[in-house]
Amino acid sequence: MLNREDDRYFPFAAIVGQEAMKTALVLNAVNPEIGGVLIRGQSGTAKSTAVRGLTALLPDVQVVADCPFQCDPEDHRLQCAVCRERIAQGEPLPVIARPRRLVNLPLNATEDRVAGTLDITRALKEGVKALDPGLLADANRGILYIDEINLLDDHIVDILLDAAALGVNVVEREGLSVSHPAQFLLIGTMNPEEGELRPQIADRIGLEVEVAALTDKAQRAEVLKRRESFLAREASDFVKHYRPLQDQLRHTIQLAMARLPHVTVPANLYEAIAALTVKFEVLSHRADITILQCAKAITAVEGRSRVEASDILEAAKLALGHRLPHDPFVAGPALDPIALRRQLEKILDTEIELKKKPLTPTVNP
Ligand SMILES: [Zn+2]
Repeated sequence: MLNREDDRYFPFAAIVGQEAMKTALVLNAVNPEIGGVLIRGQSGTAKSTAVRGLTALLPDVQVVADCPFQCDPEDHRLQCAVCRERIAQGEPLPVIARPRRLVNLPLNATEDRVAGTLDITRALKEGVKALDPGLLADANRGILYIDEINLLDDHIVDILLDAAALGVNVVEREGLSVSHPAQFLLIGTMNPEEGELRPQIADRIGLEVEVAALTDKAQRAEVLKRRESFLAREASDFVKHYRPLQDQLRHTIQLAMARLPHVTVPANLYEAIAALTVKFEVLSHRADITILQCAKAITAVEGRSRVEASDILEAAKLALGHRLPHDPFVAGPALDPIALRRQLEKILDTEIELKKKPLTPTVNP
């Protein structure tokens, strides 16, 4: 179970600092219902390193070996029409386990490249078999990574977000419609200096984290040293050195995935989430859902089965920032974590203890 280690990827556990980003990625891996991550920051802040590193931590998936959509052999909700039909005919499907894919979506990708190309003449008879699969098919049950999502064509972003919300890619051409499962973890990065993401789009992505360049001298020196070791000949030693921590993280993620369906939420915390979003004048209900799902994931990662007020607070910090009404003439983050904590304490009429340890075990200098 805990044997896979890919030397090409810089180990996730070796990334210095950037706790909010690492936490947001791990929580989404545990609970896809959170709805993805938007990582904001200048280039050179370990954003893509972290995303690639996350892939190596995820457990393999069982797929129908000869299906272009990598359907789940067991769960019929995650199957295309062809796989369902084969099962209905009593055909035993070939199954393999393979690592989750990391699919990069290039900025110049066309609608056909993303959603797939439909052969109209064949589609009427053959349905989804007439679709030449696109990137959404490749990304099914994996990670879809979009560097500089703020520069992507609005139309393509809409296709991605619709598929992400439904878990299905629907291709419609000339009155014909075919579909296939497309469940993926959406991770976008953006450099705010190159333009903002439309608020309607930002709202549709679960969490948002800000990554800043490290300002601590010791941390920056450590980044340099680890990079050198990874790129140098002793890379395999470097990867080996981080193996126990990587295994620990991998194990934590797997246990949390298994525990997640059993996590319960006390009734007063549902009300607290609603009171919080109303108080902060967040219009979209997606914020409430994301806070709830994120709090459940935090609970599962910490090995508990009941959500607590501090989980709601941590989840709200990750989910609310990009959804607050923002004054464009005021610089800096719209969300004040101290005000958030006070507000939640007031709503629940209790003191909330802050979490002391980061969720992701990493070695910092
Ligand atoms: Zn299939």
